[in-house]
Amino acid sequence: MDGCLEASLSPLSIPEYVLGCSGRRMPLLGFGTAASPPVGSQLTKTAILQAIELGYRHFDTASLYGTEQPLGEAILEAIAVGLIKSRDELFITSKLWCSDAHGELVLPALQRSLKNLRLEYLDLYLIHWPVSSKPGIYEFPIKREDFLAMDFKAVWKAMEDCQRLGLTKSIGVSNFSCKKLGDILAFATIPPAVNQVELNPLWQQKKLREFCKANGILLTAYAPLGAQGTIWGSNRVLECELLKEIAKQKGKTVAQICLRWAYEQGIGILVKSFNKDRMKSNLEIFNWSLSQEDVKKINDIPQSRLCSGQDYISKYGPFNTTQELWDGEI
Ligand code: NAP
Repeated sequence: MDGCLEASLSPLSIPEYVLGCSGRRMPLLGFGTAASPPVGSQLTKTAILQAIELGYRHFDTASLYGTEQPLGEAILEAIAVGLIKSRDELFITSKLWCSDAHGELVLPALQRSLKNLRLEYLDLYLIHWPVSSKPGIYEFPIKREDFLAMDFKAVWKAMEDCQRLGLTKSIGVSNFSCKKLGDILAFATIPPAVNQVELNPLWQQKKLREFCKANGILLTAYAPLGAQGTIWGSNRVLECELLKEIAKQKGKTVAQICLRWAYEQGIGILVKSFNKDRMKSNLEIFNWSLSQEDVKKINDIPQSRLCSGQDYISKYGPFNTTQELWDGEI
């Protein structure tokens, strides 16, 4: 896989990918911090500390999740107790929320995230969704009448300025279709390094994968296990009969089959578990492989989105339908 580096030394090391433009090394398996329903800061911090102890080095947060603060506290504690020597050993991603997705609000939003995280820089800052909302309102779900079309040029230029200022090492997007990525690429002076989207064996994003590969953008999977138990996901991935069959044959869990499959497809992965045993088993995917036959069977699974993005649809626009939000990629 282009840009992929096998990380050195410890058996728990996670392979890394060198991101375009910045040259930053991103661990290909990262730890998600969005719990649904949300859990308290203390539980989040404890889970993150356990994750660092187990070997996770890449953490995904967003201003929306309310997990920037506990992540920041966990990093300080991890340094204090000697789990890591410095923050530089970690790869930290956060995201710009819709109400801050206005040219002049991007830098202040990033500065707030950095303050919450008690960090001097992010490794990756993403536009969370390709839509803006009325400034100053931080409610979720966003009121239908509060959605606004994003001024992609102004917002992306402000993202580029953040990278030039050194406040984030790389920039990217999330929940962008091929069409919307193409719109950004048409004027970007720094192209997006990453597009973070739903991706799992039931929604494989084949078109977007090809587009991203051709344009040097690393596609990164959220909901790699189908986000079971959350308001945006379902148990369809973990309950898939074919995946259960492959897992049984290989003596692995269905979750490990999903994560290994995604890794073999050359994409980044973010997986969330606040349970120590599951956190650990989710990491155990790098010293075995799927057979070509298994991969073919998985690639042939009928496709449908689990996370439809319904919360971002409004009769007042800019996206009246999920067709418009995903530009027909549904
Ligand atoms: P996910 O990682 O596919 O699934 C998480 C759910 O699966 C949790 O309920 C977790 O419960 C459970 N789980 C984890 N490992 C398991 C295992 N081995 N066996 C059985 N169940 C397991 O979904 P996700 O949390 O939606 O995605 C991961 C991360 O991506 C998020 O945390 C967030 O950081 C990011 N994300 C981004 C966006 C975006 O719009 N950019 C959207 C959604 C998510 P336990 O904790 O109890 O183990």
